[in-house]
Amino acid sequence: MTESDRFAVAWKDFRRRKRLFWWLFLGWIPTGVLVMFVLRRFALRIMLAYMAAVFVVGLWVPLFVCPRCGERFLSWWHRDPFGAMDAKKCANCGLEVGAA
Ligand SMILES: [Zn+2]
Repeated sequence: MTESDRFAVAWKDFRRRKRLFWWLFLGWIPTGVLVMFVLRRFALRIMLAYMAAVFVVGLWVPLFVCPRCGERFLSWWHRDPFGAMDAKKCANCGLEVGAA
């Protein structure tokens, strides 16, 4: 596997993590409405599991490691957590997303 391939795999993983987070985050309300009307009996348990999934994925995204420097790509301590999710450069070395 070339360096370029390794970076491509890393960026694909990064995009997948962020996409999953945003789908879960934005799916919160429609899922809640669906659960309240269709699965009322299990609503609390399902929504607690959903919240746990959003939380876990929300932690998984910042754990992405930069393919160049090997440090976390996103900073934990960002003023705007959603802005950090959309970061375009590595917080450590400045590598831009998608660079080969
Ligand atoms: Zn880096």
